[in-house]
Amino acid sequence: MDKLTIRDADVAGKRVFVRVDFNVPLADGKVQDDSRIRASIPTIIALVQAGAKVVLASHLGRPNGKVTDSLRLRPVGQRLTELLRRNVPVTGDALGIGTEDALRRMRPGEIVLLENLRFHPEEEANDPAFAATLASYADLYVNDAFGTAHRAHASTVGVPKLLPAYAGLLMERELAMLSRLLESPERPFAAILGGAKVSDKIKVIDNLLTKVDLLILGGGMANTFLLAQGKAIGKSLAEPDRVEDARRILRRAEKNKVRVVLPVDVIVAKEVTRGTEYKTLQAEKIPASWHIVDLGKASQDLMVEALADVKTVFWNGPLGVFEIPSFAHGTNAVARMLADRAEHGATVVIGGGDSVAAITRQGLADKMTHISTGGGASLEFLEGRELPGVSVLLDRPKPERPKTTRSSTAKRPVAATRPSPAPKTPPKATPKRKTGTPA
Ligand code: ATP
Repeated sequence: MDKLTIRDADVAGKRVFVRVDFNVPLADGKVQDDSRIRASIPTIIALVQAGAKVVLASHLGRPNGKVTDSLRLRPVGQRLTELLRRNVPVTGDALGIGTEDALRRMRPGEIVLLENLRFHPEEEANDPAFAATLASYADLYVNDAFGTAHRAHASTVGVPKLLPAYAGLLMERELAMLSRLLESPERPFAAILGGAKVSDKIKVIDNLLTKVDLLILGGGMANTFLLAQGKAIGKSLAEPDRVEDARRILRRAEKNKVRVVLPVDVIVAKEVTRGTEYKTLQAEKIPASWHIVDLGKASQDLMVEALADVKTVFWNGPLGVFEIPSFAHGTNAVARMLADRAEHGATVVIGGGDSVAAITRQGLADKMTHISTGGGASLEFLEGRELPGVSVLLDRPKPERPKTTRSSTAKRPVAATRPSPAPKTPPKATPKRKTGTPA
């Protein structure tokens, strides 16, 4: 990774502002799924053990810039306290004298969680004054919130422009796993894309078409491709204004010698609800009153066969209306196949969102190589875009090129050709700033 991480920073005795992604589901004042909290723990522990004063900051839900009691971070603080077995108080607000006082009194090894940043509209607006106040809380900045790295908000872009800014360990892992897919995947490399809408995934498909050997399409988005092949899809979810994009993608795949696998048979239902009438049909001429809701058995077999020898897989989006158990068979079959591939040494990366829910429900999450904590962020990364929350972090210095003299042909010692060591604690006066982009 070409970004400095907390391994490169000297944090002892310093206050460190850590942007985490604690945007977790809550019900009855309790955290329903703590995987995002757990994912941030290695970074928090590393900082605490190195003697930092850790100021955690996150958003939760969409309070639209207003204090919303149901979106307070108290339940998250409680869960974190349980997981770390040390007290993590939550401030009453991200701003204010009380918060400033509490942060000033912190001692090395202590942790404080700021209240939901999005209670302030300035967070999403990346307001410079708001960012400057948050930056005044700390000496260093760490971003471990991969799931929000595609958003240019105050806590993801504004603050790191004002402080020496490092990647956390989760961020490092996310970037390493996803970069490996784009830069050096072991082949054959397959992408499986499902979910509701093709419009969300056109850019990622376009970029992956230059990388993958196999493209498997399912879910609602495959219907638009069936339309592009001139097939009738009845009342199924589709985007007729994207049929031309689908045709272009199919032509490009053929040109790039990428095998595309689309459903050959499908489960169709009278309604997209539980308990409705359903049956299997060939994915050719779906009668006008039926909806495609899942892969048929022949499609599942075809996809499982196509995946039999893959060495690298990226998957985003369910392959049917998986929330309804009768229509989750295609998604479940592919999840089982991927768990099997991972157990046989393939690299299997799941791109967040609903596919993660489907895998977790089957108890297969631990078998996969990597489950991204960011659905949207992982897709944007694989589109080949720079994530604003990543590009703002400090770059790792390029290795110094060894100086050679014309007369000398002797081999240089290894140490002389190694990258120069990353600076410890870059001076506060020289944080990296992007030119031309005011905070
Ligand atoms: P996220 O946006 O959370 O990252 P994702 O990218 O995994 O999710 P989405 O594009 O949001 O996936 O689509 C998921 C939704 O697509 C699910 O609610 C699922 O029911 C729906 N879906 C899948 N197949 C079909 C289909 N054939 N018809 C209608 N809806 C479908």
